[in-house]
Amino acid sequence: MAVDFASLLTDRLNAASNGSELPSIQQLVSEYAAADPRMAVVAKYMALRQSRATESDQSAEEPQIPLETYQKIKAIRQELDQLRQRNDALAGALGACYLCWGTQVTCPTCQGGGVPGAYQSDRALFDELVSPVLPQFHLTQSTRTRADGHNGEDGQKPKEVPHG
Ligand SMILES: [Zn+2]
Repeated sequence: MAVDFASLLTDRLNAASNGSELPSIQQLVSEYAAADPRMAVVAKYMALRQSRATESDQSAEEPQIPLETYQKIKAIRQELDQLRQRNDALAGALGACYLCWGTQVTCPTCQGGGVPGAYQSDRALFDELVSPVLPQFHLTQSTRTRADGHNGEDGQKPKEVPHG
């Protein structure tokens, strides 16, 4: 089952308000790593850093994250998720790479070629997000594309790579 980090934090915050002990951020990351391979790298980094800190100072304690910090992380994560959804929808509407919009030659999806129009636009998203703006520029959709529901080209879709 897919678990997102914000939900995980929410569960812990709810448990904390009922008197449960707050786990360290390292414990949370380790738990989340099981559901998200990208977080596994973070967990590995934190474990290595922790072990080195322990080697250099046997009295080193795990940092405790204040409740306020948890709540900030949760809010930031929720906003990030919303912005990613909005970005992905607009990139789909414009046929652009949803990771970099064609600005990064190192992009794993488009290698910098994903400018708007590089991929076939998602018609439903275009109608929802772009069409309402066209009259402002005295533009309308062509009847050809409107009639058959696609732009007549052999459009391609960017390969799916998760947000970094
Ligand atoms: Zn890209």
